[in-house]
Amino acid sequence: MNDKRTMHIAEFINSLRVAPGSKVSLAKDFDPAYRAGFLKKKDGVKTLQRGVELLTEYQARLAAQDTYGVVVVIQALDAAGKDGTIRHVMSGVNPQGVFVHSFKVPSAEELDHDYLWRYTVNLPGRGEIAIFNRSHYEEVLVVRVHPENLERQRLPAQARGKDVWTRRYRDINGWERHLVDNGFKVVKLFLNLSQEEQRVRLLRRIDLPDHNWKFSVADVEERGYWDDYQKAFSEMLSATSTEWAPWYVVPADHKWFARICVSAIIAHALIEIDPRFPEMSAEARKVLEQTRLQLEAEAPKGAAPDPFQTEADAASEKARKKVETKARKKARKEAGNKTAPGLDDPEPAA
Ligand code: AMP
Ligand code: MG
Repeated sequence: MNDKRTMHIAEFINSLRVAPGSKVSLAKDFDPAYRAGFLKKKDGVKTLQRGVELLTEYQARLAAQDTYGVVVVIQALDAAGKDGTIRHVMSGVNPQGVFVHSFKVPSAEELDHDYLWRYTVNLPGRGEIAIFNRSHYEEVLVVRVHPENLERQRLPAQARGKDVWTRRYRDINGWERHLVDNGFKVVKLFLNLSQEEQRVRLLRRIDLPDHNWKFSVADVEERGYWDDYQKAFSEMLSATSTEWAPWYVVPADHKWFARICVSAIIAHALIEIDPRFPEMSAEARKVLEQTRLQLEAEAPKGAAPDPFQTEADAASEKARKKVETKARKKARKEAGNKTAPGLDDPEPAA
């Protein structure tokens, strides 16, 4: 990964990061319509494409190295574009190494356990990326805005006190720290949508027949709790953006821009891990070479002993020639530059 590009990504996402320890007031601190220097969707197409390519490359390396895992947490209000963002950003990755888990209203079985249980059983393994479409943060968002959810959790009295949210923040921070310490990076994204853009998107779901299925009256009811949610989000961002797992607030009023941000943030996390394809030990290589000889000896009459080797030889010869030509061109150019300017030019007419 070239350093300039890495720095560019780091700089770009820096303004979206919630500084650990800072006190967030969502409406004041983050503009849902922000789009950096990009003016229009078409300005961002190349950037998004590059982001997807980066993710593809790094995900393959993460899987091959098999040491680290990544949990991507996506939180948002309804119609902020979680599903579409996930679809777009992950469009290039190998589905064997990435899975999405959507957390719904907890089941009876889930309610029968501690509140972090269902998130734990859905964590990724090493080499994998898990995307949490909603996450353990629902436990301090919807559960907080609608206290009947807390009732359903059948907590003992001492776990239900006034300080329940402070305790949950502390639990969550501790849980994430444990994950990070053990090789599982936690990437947290909040898609920040404005109230007006949400109104328009909900209307769109009503107006467009092929979007009707997405429409839910419950979403409009939830909209009635806008201020409560803004407050719950602000407190959650303030309390749980940590050095080991910071929050990113992604401006979500422009879907295409949100997608650029999300791919940049996930790519940055993978670049930080810097996963490598495992290197072969000398011993393992020796075994490979011996096996090759054995397989070559089994070639039937008339067949190339190792057709891949023949192909590989041709490819490396071609690559060698290309490098040579490039070097020759460069040398010629340098020799040209050393001569005083204009010396090779024809004599100006007197
Ligand atoms: P959707 O994402 O549209 O499929 O809706 C999932 C629903 O499940 C949303 O209304 C969430 O608020 C709700 N939900 C997710 N997690 C929890 C939770 N821990 N407790 C209560 N409701 C939840
Ligand atoms: Mg919904």
